[in-house]
Amino acid sequence: MADKTNYDLVIIGGGPAAMTAVVYAARKQVDMLVISDDIGGQTMWSSGVENYLGFPFITGAELVQKFEDHVRTFNVPQEYTRATRLARSGDVFNIDTQDGRQFTSRAVIIATGKSPKMLNVAGEKEFLGRGVTYCATCDGPVFAGQNVAVVGGGNSGLDAVVQMMKICPRVYLIERSQSPRADAIMIQKAKADPNVEILTNTTVKEIVGGNFVEGLVIDSVDGGNLRKLDVSAVFVEIGLSPNTDFLNGIVRLNQNKEIPVDCAARTGIPGLFAAGDVTDVPEKQIIIAAGDGAKAALGAYAYLVRLPVGETWG
Ligand SMILES: Cc1cc2nc3c(=O)[nH]c(=O)nc-3n(C[C@H](O)[C@H](O)[C@H](O)COP(=O)(O)OP(=O)(O)OC[C@H]3O[C@@H](n4cnc5c(N)ncnc54)[C@H](O)[C@@H]3O)c2cc1C
Repeated sequence: MADKTNYDLVIIGGGPAAMTAVVYAARKQVDMLVISDDIGGQTMWSSGVENYLGFPFITGAELVQKFEDHVRTFNVPQEYTRATRLARSGDVFNIDTQDGRQFTSRAVIIATGKSPKMLNVAGEKEFLGRGVTYCATCDGPVFAGQNVAVVGGGNSGLDAVVQMMKICPRVYLIERSQSPRADAIMIQKAKADPNVEILTNTTVKEIVGGNFVEGLVIDSVDGGNLRKLDVSAVFVEIGLSPNTDFLNGIVRLNQNKEIPVDCAARTGIPGLFAAGDVTDVPEKQIIIAAGDGAKAALGAYAYLVRLPVGETWG
């Protein structure tokens, strides 16, 4: 933990957007601090990344290790905590953290990404960590050899199904709509495996069990088809919400609670930049978050040295 509390730049987040911002700002020798309680963000949850340039296939954990090795060469200080409040007074930003500290900074990059949404059904909170999980990559191996259910037919859900079908006798995929919404290649993989049962037009009613999850109660969207699946784990993969609660109204959010930014990662508030999944940039991908992080760092540098944007050749 550093004694210093006043920086030119604070980068909030530890995912690809934040890590790329660190590299670009470090090469400009900006006086900065990173605030994040982890390193890697959502990329750590990906079992296989096949679309990051230079790496035809790499696991999320391996890619994060490469990012981290690169970032560490710059010796940038990191506080392993979360930002709980961001405020502005005059030209200075104040950042409160979960461990009760306060930092000030002339510029801030928000790169806090997204977190999993909850189902909000009975049993979900009760069985959290006892069969209910939001990360198949992290927790999947624990349930090898057991029947499991994955809720959500988007890319995250299909990623979970493809991981679990290799190690589980039965994998149920529960999807509310008429068909899964994931990339076709992922759906094909799941459909080709006889251990996978895809239940569409289906909704979750309750997660049941004793000490641990023992079943998932489902129904058709129209009702009248209640059924209990005997499963030991429920992987909730129904989407993600932007981590913007700590912003306390400092910046206007869009209807999805994302931060609107312009093409230079500016939020409209002088000195405040945002990058990656937390913004309104439409596609949520590692390479896009990384590119946005670079733009935000160069924008912050331009702001700090009063250069016009576009005159900060990396
Ligand atoms: C299962 C899964 C598989 C995926 N597979 C791929 C893939 O194959 N290819 C691809 O390109 N993309 C993939 N993605 C998407 C990709 O992971 C994201 O687009 C990317 O990680 C976004 O990066 P980010 O830095 O913007 O945010 P994140 O990765 O979400 O990182 C946000 C960081 O901010 C931190 N943070 C959050 N709130 C606070 C706070 N209040 N204070 C401090 N720190 C905070 C978090 O701890 C985290 O370190 C996948 C996503 C998932 C969920």
